[in-house]
Amino acid sequence: MTTMQAQATAKTENKGYTIADYKSKLKPIWCPGCGDYGVVNAIYRAFNELQLVPEKTAVISGIGCSSRIPGYVSTYGFNTVHGRAIPIASGVKISSPETTVVVAGGDGDGFAIGGGHMPHVSRRNIDMTYIVMDNQIYGLTKGQLSPTSESGLKTTTSQYGSIDTPLNIVGLALSYNVSFIARGFAGDINSLSKLIKEAITHKGFSVVHVVSPCVTYRGMEYFKQAKETCVPLPEGYDPTNKVEAFKVVEEQVKKYIGVIYRERRPTFGERLDEMQKMASGDKKVTLDNILDQYLAK
Ligand code: SF4
Repeated sequence: MTTMQAQATAKTENKGYTIADYKSKLKPIWCPGCGDYGVVNAIYRAFNELQLVPEKTAVISGIGCSSRIPGYVSTYGFNTVHGRAIPIASGVKISSPETTVVVAGGDGDGFAIGGGHMPHVSRRNIDMTYIVMDNQIYGLTKGQLSPTSESGLKTTTSQYGSIDTPLNIVGLALSYNVSFIARGFAGDINSLSKLIKEAITHKGFSVVHVVSPCVTYRGMEYFKQAKETCVPLPEGYDPTNKVEAFKVVEEQVKKYIGVIYRERRPTFGERLDEMQKMASGDKKVTLDNILDQYLAK
């Protein structure tokens, strides 16, 4: 089976799974009101609507509050090391193309120590989905500034307010040519699950940036503010127009929700299949006939 056929099979099988089939026996231990509850519920819904086969699905994370997600989902999963979820997930997808791979993590994990990985997975266009739960703080380690914390924010490590400019994750994804980019709000599970579903169905590397408030270190006021500033994309917005997408992500006050950008270009797996065909001609490449070539010498 080619990589493309394997991907198609993994995404279309219907086995009558219910949402309960995607929930593990572990109960989430996030603080009451944490945005990550909304995200994991949106993931259950999206997986169920796509009827993903649990044995052909893997959720890979780094370290942080949101990176607990693999433990709460009843698929293959790996809570890996800080900032390294993308390279590990890339290895899973390349070695097992029939597996649907979802990466989950936070702003600190993915855009500080792990910040060097997104440009490379994007230029390879590996067919997997990265869900970034952005709470603009390090929650697990008790509330320090993160790469997306806004200027002026007072935290345990910035008593007089942050003097840094925050990273714009969606702006970075656009600049890195990520082939599918969406933004959702953790408090709107319905639309978030649809975005996750679209991202998984997209052929290529997809990013879903989720505004996922940390109520413990940012307070309930932050949650209310996030709810007010997350608004739908303007009427008639065209997600294939990159210039318009840049205008939308540069908006300072509003956070537009929806599919911000999408394009179809060959995935890493598709290119690999082509290269294998070029290298082997009509001959089927197997481990045995590669070894035979060496033994014959
Ligand atoms: Fe969620 Fe913040 Fe609590 Fe972590 S510290 S579980 S991000 S509310």
